Amino acid sequence: MPNDIHSLLSVLNQPLCILITTHHKPDADALGSSLGWAHVLKARGHEVTVVVPNDFPAFLDWMPGRLEVVDYEQSKEEALGVLHRADLVCCLDFNDLNRNNELGEKIRQSGKPVLMVDHHPYPKNFATYTYHKIEASSTCELILDLCNDLGWMEAVSLVAGTCLYAGLVTDTGSFRFPSCTPNTHRWAAKLQEMGVLHFQVHEAIFDQTPVEILRFLGHCFLNCLKVLPEWHTAYIVVTQQDLNDFGVRTGDTEGLVNYALNLKGMRFASVIIDRGVQVKLSFRSKGNVPANQFAITYFDGGGHLNAAGGQSGDSLEQTEARFLKALEIFAPQYLV
Ligand code: 5GP
Ligand code: MN
Repeated sequence: MPNDIHSLLSVLNQPLCILITTHHKPDADALGSSLGWAHVLKARGHEVTVVVPNDFPAFLDWMPGRLEVVDYEQSKEEALGVLHRADLVCCLDFNDLNRNNELGEKIRQSGKPVLMVDHHPYPKNFATYTYHKIEASSTCELILDLCNDLGWMEAVSLVAGTCLYAGLVTDTGSFRFPSCTPNTHRWAAKLQEMGVLHFQVHEAIFDQTPVEILRFLGHCFLNCLKVLPEWHTAYIVVTQQDLNDFGVRTGDTEGLVNYALNLKGMRFASVIIDRGVQVKLSFRSKGNVPANQFAITYFDGGGHLNAAGGQSGDSLEQTEARFLKALEIFAPQYLV
């Protein structure tokens, strides 16, 4: 049990005004843990607002509590008002304030006490209280562990459980990644016993593909996929033109990189996307291939051993060339 639990318990003993935030471009674990934790804290008598640094994908539009979420980019004044009033800031599913964009800087400047709940490696030292376990499958799993440690399981309602189930499913690749442990399955079972309809959560997240996105995937597989069998690597390069042609929006490219890794014999995969302001790279790997080391060393990024990301200020062509040059160094060590 992390040491901070006792000090956290005494802090959370009186009703507080609490701001919960998560990383840039929230995914299901980020939003699920934030809303799940918000429901729990509200049940414990706290006043809680979830503030996201920017918008979240449409496939999360079903999550209970999403309508009250404040988007910092859309509503800066409202978000800063919440920060001003807050007695405690909870930073979920990230461990470096840079991942929270401008809002992260405002949190730093505010000097407010911060609780960080996260499962990414290499946490930065900005939090007053930390609940950090690298072995946790997801931040949603951590929130369940935290509620258990606090003796708060009765505050985990069906609505909270439904939000938390979303992160368990997605961050484990539907319970298949090595990060999925007996603890993850125990929580999934517990949530199901509480009445969480796992099939509905799954359907709400995964069975929402617009037809143009399926066509976009077809285009990527047909025209943008490159396979380097000698390095057990496959990658997909997406131009801004591709994004525009198919009307691709936030979150639509999530999961694309997994198709490259699904290919027989592949141990490393990447998706390189021209987002206009910058080129964004996603990395996935199998076994001991350190995708996060690759991201940190060559693309100013970070993440987990098997799932990481980074960015580049170069053009798409230059970024791809840099990616290949980096592979020339990385592959002989990890991929042959
Ligand atoms: P994705 O490929 O889905 O964007 O990100 C995969 C994982 O890498 C996530 O756990 C995310 O937190 C991490 N990640 C992605 N991009 C970055 C980045 O630019 N910096 C850091 N530190 N982590 C990233
Ligand atoms: Mn996560």
